[in-house]
Amino acid sequence: MTQDLLIRNATAILTGLKGDAARVPGPDLRIRAGKIAAIGALTPEPGERQIDAGGCVIYPAWVNTHHHLFQSLLKGDPVGLNATLTPWLTATPMRLRPLMTENDFRLAARIGLLELALSGCATVADHNYHYAPDLPYDTSAILFEEAAKFGLRFALCRGGGTLSRAPAGSEVPVAARPETVEGFLKDIRRLAREFHDPAPDGMQRIVVAPTTPPHSMRPDELREVASVARGLGLRLHSHLNETVQYHDAVHQQHRVKPVQFCETIGWLGEDVWYAHWSSSTRTRSRCSARPAPASPIARKATGVWAAASRRCARWRPPARRSPSASTARLPTKPPT
Ligand SMILES: [Zn+2]
Repeated sequence: MTQDLLIRNATAILTGLKGDAARVPGPDLRIRAGKIAAIGALTPEPGERQIDAGGCVIYPAWVNTHHHLFQSLLKGDPVGLNATLTPWLTATPMRLRPLMTENDFRLAARIGLLELALSGCATVADHNYHYAPDLPYDTSAILFEEAAKFGLRFALCRGGGTLSRAPAGSEVPVAARPETVEGFLKDIRRLAREFHDPAPDGMQRIVVAPTTPPHSMRPDELREVASVARGLGLRLHSHLNETVQYHDAVHQQHRVKPVQFCETIGWLGEDVWYAHWSSSTRTRSRCSARPAPASPIARKATGVWAAASRRCARWRPPARRSPSASTARLPTKPPT
């Protein structure tokens, strides 16, 4: 059971709220059963642990909305240094992930979680895609075990997929082989049963997160996965618009921009959030900036990101006032 706690004499207490509510005078803050019970000039009570916060500021812990903890051991790999995303994925994680032992994976998770905890983060959403049909250890269980050791609230975004991104013709290592959609969903149900706590203050959550649509699963599978997730009361998460090449590949394959593709397979809504959004052109920036000026990270953290994505999917470029009718009919690239 969490010990009752009184934090005293803080220089400031910040709430994360807007306007005058952003800062409350305190200077003391009482925690009962893991929740804030009172703020003000408080008198210590019997059995209460006390912390002197003189000269310190109290503020809400950070919420991490996307991570790949297993990559903590791969930082600094000389083969991938200075590479852009796609070459780096091939050079480092795709090459080294299949070689990871259970201890390697556990150590990587522990390092990443420690870095986050030391940075003031108390909630971690890890997009873990180290899964394969015959993997001899349970990466999901390891992540929950390690997060619990630090007292962190942990959302496991269960990645993986049924398609491999390895170059055509190359042999895929056993520990990186894709799953069947049946195998993927069977494990989702197991994880939901064993770990998911939907309570508002639950410390463990399962999120359904095929690694990168549509590269990791076919559209019909993504649609089925979303339906099963919603039936289980689980949220959805994935990558989107990682690079301009990704954007162009999705458009070439499906004739729509990535956000619209996600809309066609039921992957937009208040229960979906995405990571790695990147924009490099004016039209792309324009759409990704709508409708709020806050950063994508902030939007994801507050849940506004899903709504922004939906509005983005509906957005169409305004009619151009071009001196040439032919150029007006030939936009070079779709907006994102
Ligand atoms: Zn990512």
